[in-house]
Amino acid sequence: VAGGETAVFHCELAWLGGDTVESGVRVDVDDGLITDVTHGVAAPPGSVRLAGVTIPGLANAHSHAFHRALRGRTQSGAGTFWTWRDDMYRLAATIDPESYRRLARATFAEMVLAGVTCVGEFHYVHHDRDGAPYADPNAMGEAIVDAAGAAGLRLTLLDTCYLGSGIDPDAGLLPVSGAQVRFDDRSAAAWVRRVDDLRQRHRGSPTVQVGAAVHSVRAVDPHAIVAVAEWAASNEAVLHAHVSEQPAENDQCHRAYSRSPIGLLADHGAVTSRFTAVHATHATAHDATLLAAAGSTVCMCPTTERDLADGIGPTRLFRDGAVAMCLGSDSHAVIDLFEEARAVELDERLASGERGTHGAAALLDAATAAGHRSLGWSDAGRIEVGAPADLVAVSLTSRRTAGTSVEHAIAAVVFAASAADVTDVVVGGEHVVAGGAHRRIDVAAELRDSIAAVWESAS
Ligand SMILES: [Zn+2]
Repeated sequence: VAGGETAVFHCELAWLGGDTVESGVRVDVDDGLITDVTHGVAAPPGSVRLAGVTIPGLANAHSHAFHRALRGRTQSGAGTFWTWRDDMYRLAATIDPESYRRLARATFAEMVLAGVTCVGEFHYVHHDRDGAPYADPNAMGEAIVDAAGAAGLRLTLLDTCYLGSGIDPDAGLLPVSGAQVRFDDRSAAAWVRRVDDLRQRHRGSPTVQVGAAVHSVRAVDPHAIVAVAEWAASNEAVLHAHVSEQPAENDQCHRAYSRSPIGLLADHGAVTSRFTAVHATHATAHDATLLAAAGSTVCMCPTTERDLADGIGPTRLFRDGAVAMCLGSDSHAVIDLFEEARAVELDERLASGERGTHGAAALLDAATAAGHRSLGWSDAGRIEVGAPADLVAVSLTSRRTAGTSVEHAIAAVVFAASAADVTDVVVGGEHVVAGGAHRRIDVAAELRDSIAAVWESAS
């Protein structure tokens, strides 16, 4: 719905916050925004029916779209995060703006089918295979913007600063090598110039934001952290960083800087209310205090953290410290935000031997409102007046969800539903997914063809 068009959706049940759902919820939409929400009413003539339980659009706060081509190809043999990374670099060496546009479009369309209406793309493959900038230095970023538009979801492009391949013991950076030359802008000043241009191009877009990312303290030194943080602050842009994903990163950071990664980022101005620490798997109680004091967010990516043998993040610390949590499917080993949400609680059960640290409503808030806030869309992720009309209907009649009573609907969605239970997705009032199918894209066929194309170009 654009250009002043109006629509009325009628939800059999809808989650308006808290532990319960309301019945017969009418959502009025004008020009992509919710203008009225009433419950306990019959479906008005001409309204679009949404069966099952309707929740706000899900935010996937941490994505590397091209990793989707790795699915199923990294599961044989032994290894660690670091050997998985070698596989990922082989893929990163192959993509170009055209193949990336197609792969990202299919990956984002898979997300939309899963109920994701906003994605944070942590984007670091900037340059040509030899490390030289493309004729348009933002050709790869623009490919991602096009892909999100075609797939029909909101995008925060987290343009990532990446300048080195590891921490030099003398507190500098080791030079990039191999596929990493594609990530490297050579200086923080060059990163700022490129990202400034990209942000200008999309200023005022209702569906695209350009934010910033520090790849990690392994790839960005303190001087450059300051430059990225200053750019984000002066543009009121969100800033994300991978932190403490691996114990080795903490050890190297301590040896060089006598601080944790979060401590180093905080000392150099990066940790603010617009900051999101991605993973934070090996964060400490002191780190949680720093994040809480700044009003920062943590992005948990439990299916990736499992897949890469990273560990289980200290989510109880974050809960106790009132650090907001959001969710990301990161490497896309699977794309299912319900699985990410319940994994936060279920992994904590395995680690602690206790149930009930994170309730269903808190986990759904992480998947919706908190994720949108982390990506700079503070009004989105809730079904209320003034919010973007981003709605996701989840079936309560599938073989996973059938038999659920109304009072347990949210618990069933969070703890038992899968991405395949999403039947309808509305983004900015536009009905992008209906009856479980994307209205514009044959998603499985596009995934098949775009993934075959990138591996063909690698061989
Ligand atoms: Zn990541």
